[in-house]
Amino acid sequence: MISFFSALLLLASQASATEIVCTLPWLGDIAHRVAPDAHITTLSRGTDDPHFLSPTPALMARVSAADLYVENGLNLELWSERLLDSAGNPKIRPGQPGYVKATVNMVRLEIPTDLTRAKGDLHPEGNPHVWTDPLNAPVAADNIAAGMSRIDPANAAKYTANAKAFRAKINEAMFGADLVGFMGGDLLARLAQSNKLDEFLASKGLTARLGGWAKKGASLKGKPIIFYHQSWAYFINRFGVKVVGFVEDRPGIPPTAAHRDELLGLIKANNVKVIEVTSFYDPKIPNLLGQQTGAKVAVVAGDVGGTPQATDYFAYIDSLLTAFTQ
Ligand SMILES: [Zn+2]
Repeated sequence: MISFFSALLLLASQASATEIVCTLPWLGDIAHRVAPDAHITTLSRGTDDPHFLSPTPALMARVSAADLYVENGLNLELWSERLLDSAGNPKIRPGQPGYVKATVNMVRLEIPTDLTRAKGDLHPEGNPHVWTDPLNAPVAADNIAAGMSRIDPANAAKYTANAKAFRAKINEAMFGADLVGFMGGDLLARLAQSNKLDEFLASKGLTARLGGWAKKGASLKGKPIIFYHQSWAYFINRFGVKVVGFVEDRPGIPPTAAHRDELLGLIKANNVKVIEVTSFYDPKIPNLLGQQTGAKVAVVAGDVGGTPQATDYFAYIDSLLTAFTQ
């Protein structure tokens, strides 16, 4: 009888699980860490171009039934507004308790000064590709925890604690357990965000104690790389990569022949060894440039699940650093 009763309880708890719909895989991964008991649906896959998506009817049904909708925002998901218009779910519309914009409180890069789309600018609110900087991920976790706390206030303390634990885990992955144990992850993150970490560690003789992604990415400082789309601003800012050019002439527009010639010149002049192409873009032109110059084409994940290695957010950041440092 007890097992029958527990089975009923289990069914009841499943039936009442909070339904979270996230637009992007990295948000789904973090939502799962903040609200492990919720049922989570992710609309795009890591192998999809996040700018463009036509959700299937099955996914649309999830949006209609969602208690919480989590999006990146900043005009990344150009399809999200229309999706919310047709979902018929007033609880999750922007401004409602069930709506979360994960990029609130993040420092935005590349905010355009002139708002015409003449330059092919996809992103008038600034660069939205925030998740390539691991230090932005805890901010998204905090925003999701705040959203969960609005719709499920009885468990608010749990969501806040989970977001805090995620921040600690990111800090440890970023700076290594040794230095985090010695100085505290939050202080290290603040120093890194104000671009004062290297200087600070050098002045205290602590550089050798730096571990984690910061150590793994140290060889990227000043390293010349050609990227496909302008989706790397936050990674570049965090790891100090030197951007030599973009395969796309203008964001969202395929390269012209003249631009390809220009890239060939840039690769040679800057001794570029790596051309990045995110796994959902056509690698034809990067491969051609690689063949003509000897530069290596690194096919990288655009998000969690974008390559077989990028199994979760931590493995995703690992996979990027591996691809760019090898
Ligand atoms: Zn973009």
